[in-house]
Amino acid sequence: MKSASHLRPVHQEVQEQQANRALFLCRQFIDDKDQRDREKLRGEFLLSEILTDLGEDEEILPAVEYGCCSFSVNTHSVDKLQILAELSNRRHDAGLYQEAAEGWLKVGAYSAELGDVNYFVQALLGIGRQLQIIGDHCGALKYFYKAKSLTQSMSSAVVRARLSFHLIASCISVHKLDKAQIYLDACKHDEVVSGTAEFKALTHLYQAIIQRKKGNIREALAAIRLAKELVTKGLENGVRNLIQLELGWCFIASDNAQKGIRLLGMLLVNSAGNSSFLLELNIHEALSDAYAGIDDFDKALECEQKAHQLHLLLINKISVGNLNCNCSQKLERMERLLTIQCTQQENMHLKQKVEGHFSLVERLQQDAFTDPLTQVFNRRWLDAELQNRTGIYAALLIDADYFKTVNDNFSHQVGDLALKRLASLLLQEVRKIDSVIRYGGEEFLVLLTETSVLKVSLLAERLRDCIESADWMDLLPGRPLTISIGGAVKSIDESGDMLLKRADSALYQAKEQGRNLFCFNEGPADCDILS
Ligand code: GH3
Ligand code: MG
Ligand code: MG
Repeated sequence: MKSASHLRPVHQEVQEQQANRALFLCRQFIDDKDQRDREKLRGEFLLSEILTDLGEDEEILPAVEYGCCSFSVNTHSVDKLQILAELSNRRHDAGLYQEAAEGWLKVGAYSAELGDVNYFVQALLGIGRQLQIIGDHCGALKYFYKAKSLTQSMSSAVVRARLSFHLIASCISVHKLDKAQIYLDACKHDEVVSGTAEFKALTHLYQAIIQRKKGNIREALAAIRLAKELVTKGLENGVRNLIQLELGWCFIASDNAQKGIRLLGMLLVNSAGNSSFLLELNIHEALSDAYAGIDDFDKALECEQKAHQLHLLLINKISVGNLNCNCSQKLERMERLLTIQCTQQENMHLKQKVEGHFSLVERLQQDAFTDPLTQVFNRRWLDAELQNRTGIYAALLIDADYFKTVNDNFSHQVGDLALKRLASLLLQEVRKIDSVIRYGGEEFLVLLTETSVLKVSLLAERLRDCIESADWMDLLPGRPLTISIGGAVKSIDESGDMLLKRADSALYQAKEQGRNLFCFNEGPADCDILS
């Protein structure tokens, strides 16, 4: 079975900036049919990152969509959230706003159910960004403030930083410059922001915008210079374009309209075809101001009209009514659920802590004798038990049939769940005075107290039948799970170890005879024959 470590060569190629080679290896990894769900999803994430590095923007969305299609019932909920958020972000970047909004609502619903604040904040951010695009900054701020209020319980510093920048952008747009400055100052002290070139560039960029809007062009230009210094360190195009746009605005504001027009014209050409209508709209708005500044009102009007058309286009792409009413109502409901989930988690946490203090010793003792996966007794318990146990007792050694194929066909994770269920079915079926022990990987032992050959055989048959007729469809669709059982009753002079050896021989026999069977070892004589 492959593991995530097989992605290491891909990571290595990425680090060495061999993006094409990384792409090849990553695709190979994903196409490998043996991959487990989780590994596959990790591969698909990496693929979207490599495609981004290569600038293969058109291929990214289909790649992520493909990742979403490969969900199965066993896909980890956090993986689902991660890829849904990625998909929504990519759709947003590709201008598929309606689909992105649907994605964000799903992320919101899912994260609320799971009590995952990080992703809930991302959903709020996603919807807010759409309102930002159509220029409804007051609407956007509502979502951003709500998200901000949740950030104390959030662990992702990157999401927190992104949220801050959107908050700052919208504050600037509604001319709350002082408030924007406060958020920006807080951002500057953030470790993640100061350690990431893109975020650092954004702090300079927003500083420039605030200064320009306050009429301090010299300070604005100084901030832009700082932002531009970071551009060489491989900033993504989006940020780079925004810096150029702001520089254009600064030229216009400093009576250097011609220079601004040249710069913005170039930016328009360079950014053509990258599906960002918003950038194009902003460039036309700036150009319109620039032309007005040199009294070329025809051109100014032309640019204004173009900007207006783009604005209409964006409004058509984004259903404002839907966002403002539908989304906010849904998200409000989700937030209530999220709060309940978080409170519950917190309460549980506290309760566990208190309980933990009271019964630490007791728990440690119990833990030492409990198998962590199945919660039945472990080998340590068995060893202690066999040393102390006296009188007549019997052993049923149970082994899941062809269990390796469960892991191979459904993943190790599902295998674990199957083992858990198997153990709990065994526990349900045995008498209170009997004990269930996890003997090895997919092997269990039942120790039966004060029993007879007949009772052992009847119970063994009942256990075999119970496992065979249990409903495994949800875990192992199309594959029944059966067990083979070897049984033996302890004779008077026999040690516990000897008894287990005989049960093992009987188990071996059950396997040999075709599995899903119970075989009984009658005594030391049989043991000789079988061994
Ligand atoms: P047989 O009918 O002969 O017993 O076939 P089998 O495949 O069950 O036997 P084999 O001994 O070849 O394989 C046992 C499998 O059980 C392989 C191993 O990966 C799996 N297994 C053991 N412990 C665990 C566990 O804790 N979790 C999971 N998921 N699988 C386990
Ligand atoms: Mg085995
Ligand atoms: Mg087995």
